[in-house]
Amino acid sequence: MADATIFDQYPLDQWKDPAHRIMDRFSLKGKKGFVTGGAGGLGRNTAAAWAEAGADVAIVDLPRTRETLEPLAAELSERYGTNVVPLYCDVSDKTQVDELKTRLVDKLGTVDVAFLNAGVNVPGDDADEPYEVWRKTIDINLTGAYLTAQIAQHIMREHNHGGSLIFTSSLSAHNANFIAGGPSPVAAYGATKAGIYEYARYLAAALAPYGIRSNAISPGYVWSGIFEGRIVPEAHDMMVAPVPMHRFGTNEEIASAVLFLASDASSYVTGTNLQVDGGYSVY
Ligand code: NAD
Repeated sequence: MADATIFDQYPLDQWKDPAHRIMDRFSLKGKKGFVTGGAGGLGRNTAAAWAEAGADVAIVDLPRTRETLEPLAAELSERYGTNVVPLYCDVSDKTQVDELKTRLVDKLGTVDVAFLNAGVNVPGDDADEPYEVWRKTIDINLTGAYLTAQIAQHIMREHNHGGSLIFTSSLSAHNANFIAGGPSPVAAYGATKAGIYEYARYLAAALAPYGIRSNAISPGYVWSGIFEGRIVPEAHDMMVAPVPMHRFGTNEEIASAVLFLASDASSYVTGTNLQVDGGYSVY
């Protein structure tokens, strides 16, 4: 038999192993993860997807979401039989995020996957926006993503295992969302989401030696709950006009993309931005 070579790491036909199942790559069985913005549409659906895929999950959001988060965690634990816990933290506050790190290790033992997803689009985010609007957007969206990614990657490295970081960027990282003849109010918002994308790419390069992958998703318009009751059917039609698929996305369509990036199904994917936008970015 020939000596093992560097090429042995590249199996040509794994499917030929009778025990091999490609769907196992999508499993998160035994993994531990946390989701920020966990009470919101994208966050809670990703928490549900991860729990169904076998992970223990901490759902992280502001204390004001307690009435949503407590029953949500209980329902997911009951339904999927994994350990789902609510944790409260303002992601823009370094002291609170440092405390979150301790509580994550207490509750879950470690962290293998993290969805850095908390974000806001503050009213008045246009060309003449007040300093306070700019500052708040940067603090929550960009600094919050940085702080929570830091604790995630430090836990992974301290526990000597790899992991996956998934950041929520946006369609607005790539364009100004043309609606009704001009840009949507996403001045600081778009800047933070573009920053998040580049930060995710940097970490991909820096953390690859530790087996940690880092990717972003860029959702287009998603019917996540934030538009509920806020737009009339005519506004809906106007928003989806430039979307090749002519509709919003759903929370589950985002959750399944995040599940892909969290799981071994994407084991050779790092430093990328996955557009989940019905084709909006094509134009
Ligand atoms: P959402 O408002 O339902 O969820 C956002 C969650 O973040 C909320 O539960 C909120 O309480 C939480 N949050 C806000 N500030 C926080 C803070 N300082 N600390 C901790 N948690 C905080 O919105 P969503 O549509 O689910 O959006 C989730 C993410 O997806 C956001 O980053 C958003 O910018 C991004 N996004 C959404 C869309 C869309 O069309 N819905 C499109 C592109 C990107």
